[in-house]
Amino acid sequence: MKVAMYYSQNDIRIEEMPVPEIGEDEVLVEMKACGICGSDLMEWYLKPRAPLVLGHEPAGIIAKRGSRVKAFNVGDRVFVHHHVACLKCYFCLRGDYTLCEQFHRTNIKPGGFVEYFRVPAQNLQIDTLKIPDALSFEEATLIEPVGCCLKALKECSIQKGDFLAIIGAGATGIIHTALSKIHGAAKTIVSDLIDYRLDIARKFGADITVNPKKEDLAEIITSETDGRGADIAVVTAPSLEAYKAGLSVCRKGGKLCVFAATEPEEYLQISPKGLFFSETQIIASYSTSHLETRAALELIKSGKLRVKDLITHRFRLVETAEAFKTAQESKESLKVIVLNE
Ligand SMILES: [Zn+2]
Ligand SMILES: [Zn+2]
Repeated sequence: MKVAMYYSQNDIRIEEMPVPEIGEDEVLVEMKACGICGSDLMEWYLKPRAPLVLGHEPAGIIAKRGSRVKAFNVGDRVFVHHHVACLKCYFCLRGDYTLCEQFHRTNIKPGGFVEYFRVPAQNLQIDTLKIPDALSFEEATLIEPVGCCLKALKECSIQKGDFLAIIGAGATGIIHTALSKIHGAAKTIVSDLIDYRLDIARKFGADITVNPKKEDLAEIITSETDGRGADIAVVTAPSLEAYKAGLSVCRKGGKLCVFAATEPEEYLQISPKGLFFSETQIIASYSTSHLETRAALELIKSGKLRVKDLITHRFRLVETAEAFKTAQESKESLKVIVLNE
């Protein structure tokens, strides 16, 4: 079978690999669509582990099933979550599923940008979801990113009537925008340096959009919130500037949501005195558990979240290198997906 082997951001090669063998509690999935995530573009994170096959937002059809698998059949259309918690450890028992040691260790094999991948037993049992007929494979690739955003807003205890600032309007910034309105946000203010993304953010419910190259974000948020600042500032852009902006627009007692990783050598200066008196909360949210993927599927199915409109580019598996280039460089790309047709 063909796989897209990642050596570096600019060196992704189509290589041949044997179709994975499966165990009796596992299934083999024929990939149909797989999204490129912002984390697939973090070269500092991935290159030390290269060569490897990326892709963790896959949807496909079960092509083969192990003899002991009862809950799924050949031909089922499925979304598979690459990371699954053990549900038994200290972290899991406290609901911190994404901090579970097994969570990090589990993965689909060899990855999502392939013709076929193996779904290990744990992934099959805990977080493989049947895709309803009404949903396309493309839409199902958004289950994982939507789950990540749902979890982040839950960690920030979003409430009806909240004022939100979303810093960065890439795909996850826009998903946060739409979700904030679904959660009843009074006003959602979205900032990005690219006007094209701000146009899309408005289509997904942003009340106000700001391009900090032209306008003063802090000033606008101050005036839109009666001088208070935002209840929650979600930073979805992987830059220190974005974090500084996020901190500067939080109200007293507000929450700064850390949703994107910056480069490993980057640090943010924070004054404990400032934090102490402002009672600003810093809340990080990594990945999504099996709880939010189910909620994400329901939301997408309900039609409340039109994820399809987020997909701006589609490439064939053999064009994965081009797909990565587009995701990295195009100013008019949001969600780029790879199709195996
Ligand atoms: Zn992702
Ligand atoms: Zn666990």
